[in-house]
Amino acid sequence: MKHKITIGWLYPEFMNIYGDRGNILVLQKRCTWRGLKAEVKLLELGFSEKELYNCDILMMGGAQDLQQKIVSDDLLPKRKALSSIIEAGVPGLYVCGAYQFLGNYYKDADGKIIEGLKIFDLHTVNPGEKSKRLIGNLTTRISMSIDSPLTTLVGFENHGGRTYLGKKVKSLAKVLNGHGNNGEDLTEGAFYKNSIGTYMHGPILPKNPHLADYLIKCALQMKDRSAILPLLDDTVELNAHKAIAKRMGIEI
Ligand code: GLN
Repeated sequence: MKHKITIGWLYPEFMNIYGDRGNILVLQKRCTWRGLKAEVKLLELGFSEKELYNCDILMMGGAQDLQQKIVSDDLLPKRKALSSIIEAGVPGLYVCGAYQFLGNYYKDADGKIIEGLKIFDLHTVNPGEKSKRLIGNLTTRISMSIDSPLTTLVGFENHGGRTYLGKKVKSLAKVLNGHGNNGEDLTEGAFYKNSIGTYMHGPILPKNPHLADYLIKCALQMKDRSAILPLLDDTVELNAHKAIAKRMGIEI
C-alpha cells in the first residue's frame, strides 16, 4: 500500500533561520525516494489547530527572539492540541527557538519571559547581549536509540539561550565538540516520546540521514506497525557528516 506522509511545517515564515527549511526538503525527498507520497502542509500564523491532527511529522525551525514572541502568542492557545499530538508519539523536529518554546519558559535577551508550551521539562535563559552567543559547528554522540549504526549527530549552532533539562526529559545527545544546550553540562537537545528538540541548524537533517529516517519510520509505523523503510544510498550524506566531524577532531 502506498502510504502518504503529511509533513506539518510550523511557521515557515517566522521560524526558519540558518537553513532550517532544508529539513522539510530532506523529509520530503527521503519519503518520495522510497515511493511514499509526501505532502508538506504550511502551518502559518493563525492556522487552525485541527490541521495539526492531519500531520504525520512536525517540523519547526529557529528564530530570533522577536519572531519567537510573535509565534508564542499564536501557538500558546493551541498548546493542548500540540501537547496531545506529541504525547501520542507523533514524531517531530523542533530546532533552536522552536525547541526552547517546547519548554516551560524562555527568558529572552532583554530579560522578558516568553511563556513556553510546557511539553518538555526544561527552561531556557538568554543571559543578554553582553554574553557570548553559543556559535559554531557541533558534533555529538546520540543518547537515544534510533536504530542506526551511526551514533553521532553533526550540525551548526547559533543561540544566546542556555537550556537546562528537567528530570522528565532526556537529552538527545552528549556534546563531543561544541556548546550544546548551555555550554556547561555537555548535553545537547532533548528527546521526549518521538519529539526531538535540538540546537543543531545546518540544517540538521541533510548531514544526519539516520535522524531523518528515524522521524519518517516513526510516522510510517504509526500508520502500519509492520512497515519497513528501505535503505537508501547515503554515501554523499555520510561523507558530509564525516567531513564535519573530522573538522572537529572526531574520526568516524
Ligand atoms: N532566539 C533564540 C536564542 O538566541 C533562538 C535562536 C535560534 O533559533 N537560532 O537563543
